[in-house]
Amino acid sequence: MENEPTYQAMQAVAPGRLEFVRKLVRDPGPGEVRIRVEACGVCHSDAATVEGALPIDWPRVPGHEAVGRIDAVGAHVQGWVIGQRVGVGFLGGSCGHCEFCREGDLVNCRNQEFTGVHRDGGYAEILIARASGLMPTPDDLSSVNAAPLLCAGLTTFSALRKSPAKPGDLVAVLGIGGLGHLGVQYARHMGFKVAAIARGAEKAELAKKLGAHYYIDSAAGSSADALQALGGAKVILITASAGKTVADTFKGLRPGGVSLLVGASPEPIEVSGFDLIFGSRKLEGALTGDPETGDETLRFSALSGVSAIIETMPLEKAADAYAKMMAGKARFRIVLTMD
Ligand SMILES: [Zn+2]
Ligand SMILES: [Zn+2]
Repeated sequence: MENEPTYQAMQAVAPGRLEFVRKLVRDPGPGEVRIRVEACGVCHSDAATVEGALPIDWPRVPGHEAVGRIDAVGAHVQGWVIGQRVGVGFLGGSCGHCEFCREGDLVNCRNQEFTGVHRDGGYAEILIARASGLMPTPDDLSSVNAAPLLCAGLTTFSALRKSPAKPGDLVAVLGIGGLGHLGVQYARHMGFKVAAIARGAEKAELAKKLGAHYYIDSAAGSSADALQALGGAKVILITASAGKTVADTFKGLRPGGVSLLVGASPEPIEVSGFDLIFGSRKLEGALTGDPETGDETLRFSALSGVSAIIETMPLEKAADAYAKMMAGKARFRIVLTMD
């Protein structure tokens, strides 16, 4: 082992336990590339790995907002070259042949692995990824700035882009955290009338700075009434993960409106059949986005200047970064750097 090349990684070894280790560098297999990671965002979904909420084959390296340069290309990989800067998100790459892939629904590919869950992720200097999940990083985005856009960015951008809202429509963003602070910016730059909803008055200033036209303090009264006073929302982008909050805002939708859930939570959401039927309202979930929408996310962000508010920490501090994020103290995205 002494002469074999190794790399540093932070891996989860048991529920709640991260360990800094050296691992052996391996060659990419067929359809895979090897990436020298330069930056990786710390996402709340990393908890699914670290806390073992999803079935994990320990040890496992978390991290699904990784950006770096390809340094080896496996067999049967076309269109990707050594030296190219690429990003890897939560969806590890579609198979291309299952019924969902054949329908063009790559997000729901039956044979897709989740980065940092089924295979090692980006809390590491080296990452092996399926080529079908890669997203090229535009030159005008730094690796640190691009990283959070691969999950938090892609998730909110994709949900808004596919939503029925048109320029000028009222779009509400519930929650101003890692996802929400990007959601507000995208909504503004897509030309919507934007209402940000969060608890307490202290987030009002930040919400306006991010581009919200209105701020609704959910602790001060009914958010649904406040949205109806503005004409009712065409879309409510739910980035907070509480079932009760989702239910509370649902009546703030205008007829034909949709509540889009992107903040994952096991909590049930109670909405009444009357509120669904009278007004033809919808409650929908959206799982991140496909690589093509990832390309658009990166390009749109570079074009419009949308960017996460970032704090960087070195890879060795990944356990501290994770703990800080879990404690709700990240403002607003921690990005690990490897140099
Ligand atoms: Zn994520
Ligand atoms: Zn497939």
